[in-house]
Amino acid sequence: MKVLVIGSGGREHAIAYKLKQSPKVTELYAIPGNPGIASLGTCVPGSVEDNKFIVDFIQKNQIDLTVIGPEVPLCNGLADDIEKAGYKAFGPQKKAATLEGSKAFSKDFMVRHHIPTAKYVEVTDFEKACKEVDHFDFPLVIKADGLAAGKGVVIVENKEDAISTLKDMMVDGALDGAGSKVVLEEFLTGFECSLLCFTDGKTIVPMVSAKDHKQIFDGNKGPNTGGMGTVSPNPFLPEGMDEVLKKDILDPFMQGLKDDQMDYRGVVFIGLMIENNQAKVLEFNVRFGDPETQSILLRLESDLYEIMDACATYTLDQVEVKWSDDHVACLVLASGGYPGKYDKGIEIKNIDKVSEDIVVFHAGTALKDGKLVTNGGRVLNVCARGANLQEALAKVYETATIITFDGMYYRHDIGLR
Ligand code: ATP
Repeated sequence: MKVLVIGSGGREHAIAYKLKQSPKVTELYAIPGNPGIASLGTCVPGSVEDNKFIVDFIQKNQIDLTVIGPEVPLCNGLADDIEKAGYKAFGPQKKAATLEGSKAFSKDFMVRHHIPTAKYVEVTDFEKACKEVDHFDFPLVIKADGLAAGKGVVIVENKEDAISTLKDMMVDGALDGAGSKVVLEEFLTGFECSLLCFTDGKTIVPMVSAKDHKQIFDGNKGPNTGGMGTVSPNPFLPEGMDEVLKKDILDPFMQGLKDDQMDYRGVVFIGLMIENNQAKVLEFNVRFGDPETQSILLRLESDLYEIMDACATYTLDQVEVKWSDDHVACLVLASGGYPGKYDKGIEIKNIDKVSEDIVVFHAGTALKDGKLVTNGGRVLNVCARGANLQEALAKVYETATIITFDGMYYRHDIGLR
């Protein structure tokens, strides 16, 4: 089978790596891919936002299955366009992708389908938004409605900061239109975690758990990033949550998809806040998380191509999804300065010297004059399996002393509380 992966991050490298292990996958392509994916298949330059170019490529090369990694092409209706052309896609259709593309749409879906979530109000007018602030306690959560690449959520401690954040988003257009509508939301306390599931819209299959580390500095300090590392399983997940999550979140979610006639075939990533063994949904993402995917997929024993194809063809109930008991750690090696300004084009050394049982997924890398160089904030994802968490962590931290590039930065407390 010919498979095309859309995207260029560590997440897409991990997806490509697992797809390549399938005996059914004979040819692997990526648009645009990265130097890591290039070692597994053919990378084709092009924009993930150019639906016509991608569909033309699929038709010309008779691609059997296209796996869409990032949220932007999903929200742009790429899955719809691929299917209209008569080909298979792994990834929800545009209407379902709006669960991530619009926070107001997502909150409305949750409330209508009795999925527990924080109290909220949706506003499109700045003056009205300022008045609504008085109906909430502080801290208050302000969310830009549209996609904002992780910059759309601000937690404010007082009215003055609330008004200035609303002005930035709604009047000054700080988020390029993503904030012309906002959601004001009650601040939830508790333990944050995420749940990723495969679904074909009829059947939903939870994946193993993973713990992300969002902030740039040790001890969860400093600004948020795309994610600095993950471990799977999540060592902090309270016991006995599986049943609660199924009953309170997954069952009403699936009923909601059915009632609203949403065609959802792909991955749903549910951001949760858990307190006293009760879960509330913070957000739905309509794709794999990055870097959760890197550690989760290394524990997948079943054939990823078969699972994805089954999602695309509404037959997920007919495949087995098996996981290993291993612990996996994923450590992000980042450019100095990230998530602020950082340099690119710095040579990465010794990647060929890492031990064979380590998997290094590329994220922000490029090839320049035959040399591997940095090309983004999060550069590499070093992943290792172990019989327990300590063993997996020891391996990734050992590897981080081998690979080097000027300014390389990583957290030292991945997997610790
Ligand atoms: P973007 O749209 O910019 O990509 P996002 O999708 O990451 O943002 P959320 O996941 O909804 O946005 O929120 C980001 C973070 O803000 C959460 O991971 C959580 O830490 C915090 N947060 C969001 N909502 C709440 C809430 N109601 N109470 C407490 N914390 C919250």
